Amino acid sequence: MQFELNSDQRMLSEAAKRLSDETLVPILAREPADRPLSKLVMQEIYGHLEEFGITASRLPEEFGGSGLSMLDYGLVMEQLPPVIALSLLSHDGSTVRFNAGADESVRDSYLDDFRSGRKIVCTANSEPNAGSDSNTISTKLELEGDRAFITGSKMWITNASICDCMIVSCSTGKDERGRPIPQRVLVDLSKSEVGLRETALAGLKQGHLCEVIFDRTEVPVSHIIGSPGDAGKYMTIVWNANRPLIGLMALNIARRAYDTALQHVLERQQFGAPLASRQLVQQDLSDMDAAITSARLTCLMALAKLDSGARSNGISAMAKRLATENAVKVIHTAMQLCGGMGVTEELGLAQLWADARVFQVPDGTQGILALIHGRDITGTAAWR
Ligand SMILES: Cc1cc2nc3c(=O)[nH]c(=O)nc-3n(C[C@H](O)[C@H](O)[C@H](O)COP(=O)(O)OP(=O)(O)OC[C@H]3O[C@@H](n4cnc5c(N)ncnc54)[C@H](O)[C@@H]3O)c2cc1C
Repeated sequence: MQFELNSDQRMLSEAAKRLSDETLVPILAREPADRPLSKLVMQEIYGHLEEFGITASRLPEEFGGSGLSMLDYGLVMEQLPPVIALSLLSHDGSTVRFNAGADESVRDSYLDDFRSGRKIVCTANSEPNAGSDSNTISTKLELEGDRAFITGSKMWITNASICDCMIVSCSTGKDERGRPIPQRVLVDLSKSEVGLRETALAGLKQGHLCEVIFDRTEVPVSHIIGSPGDAGKYMTIVWNANRPLIGLMALNIARRAYDTALQHVLERQQFGAPLASRQLVQQDLSDMDAAITSARLTCLMALAKLDSGARSNGISAMAKRLATENAVKVIHTAMQLCGGMGVTEELGLAQLWADARVFQVPDGTQGILALIHGRDITGTAAWR
C-alpha cells in the first residue's frame, strides 16, 4: 500500500489542473453563470477534452479508448470544473452503454464521433415514475415490421439539450413477474424527432438537465442495442464507476469552499486577533480537512477496487455517499466561518453549497446508496 501518486499520475493530475485553470475555467467565466451553456460552447469544451484524450476514457482500448485506469481517470476528473466533469461523465458512460452490444454497422457509423466528442451522447433512463426504482420504466419500444417506435417521457437527463444522440432505456414488454423488460435504443436527434424542455437546476447552473418526450419517435431497428432485459446491467456497470467520480467532483467544490474560509479566518481580526488563532475555529478547520481527506481517499480506493476487477458496488456507493455528504457539511461550515460574508453572494459560498448539493441525487440518492452498501454488508436487499 502506498499513498503517494507516482510520477506519471502527478504529471497527469497537474496537466488536468492546467487544462482546467488555463482553458476550461476561463470559458465558463466568459459565459453567463446562471444559465445552461450553449451547444456551441459545449462543442468548444469537448474539443479541448478530446485534445487532452479523455472523451472516451472508459471505452476499451481496442475500440479507441484512452486506456486510462479508473484511478487515473479520477485524478483527472477531480481537477475539472464539476459542471464539465458531470457532462463528460454522462457522455463517456453513454459511450460505454452504446458500445456494449451495438450492431457492428451502427457502431462503425457512430463510435468514432462519440470517442472524439465530435458528437455528444447522453443516457435517458429516469422517468416521472421511475427514479430510484430505475427499472420500472414505462417508455415503450414497439416494433412494426422493420420500423421501431418509442413512446414515453424521460426526466432529468444530463446533456439532453446539447447532445447529438441518446441511449434511451425502453420497455419491450413485461417479464413473468410483471416487471418491464428494459432495452437500450440509440436515438440520433438529427434523424428522429424528440421534444426537449430544459429544467432549471438549483446548482451547477451552467449544466444541462432536460425532460425528453418521445411521441411515437421512429428509430431504425438496427439502433436497438444488446438484448431485451440487459439495459439495467449496463446502467449498473456505469453507475458503479460514476459514483466515486461524482464524489471527487463534490469534493473539488468543498476544497474551494475550505480554501476560501481558511483565507478568510487568517485575515479576519476579531477580539484583537485573527479568527484562525481561536481554538474552536481551528477545530472547524481540522474537521473540514479530515472530512475532505477521508472521503477523497475512499473515492480513490473505490476506483482502485474497480481497476482490480473486484466487486465494488458497496464501496462505490459508500464513497459517493460519504463524499457528497462531507462536501455539503464542509461548505456549510465554511459559510459559518465567514459570518455575514458567508451568506452574501460576495464569496460565492452559497452557490458552491447548491452546486455540491446537486450531487446527492444523480446515480443514486443518499438513501439508495446506503441500501446498496447495506446489501453488500448483510447480503439482503432492503429496498423491496
Ligand atoms: C443533476 C442530475 C443529473 C441526472 N442525470 C440523469 C441522467 O443523465 N439520466 C437519467 O436517466 N437520470 C438522471 N437523473 C435522474 C436521477 O437518476 C434521479 O433523480 C434519481 O435516480 C432519483 O430519482 P427521483 O428523483 O425520482 O427520486 P425518488 O426515487 O422519488 O426518491 C426520493 C427520495 O426517496 C428515497 N427513497 C426512494 N426509495 C427508497 C427506499 N426504498 N427506501 C428508502 N428511501 C427511498 C430516496 O433516497 C430519495 O431521498 C439526474 C438527476 C439529477 C439531479
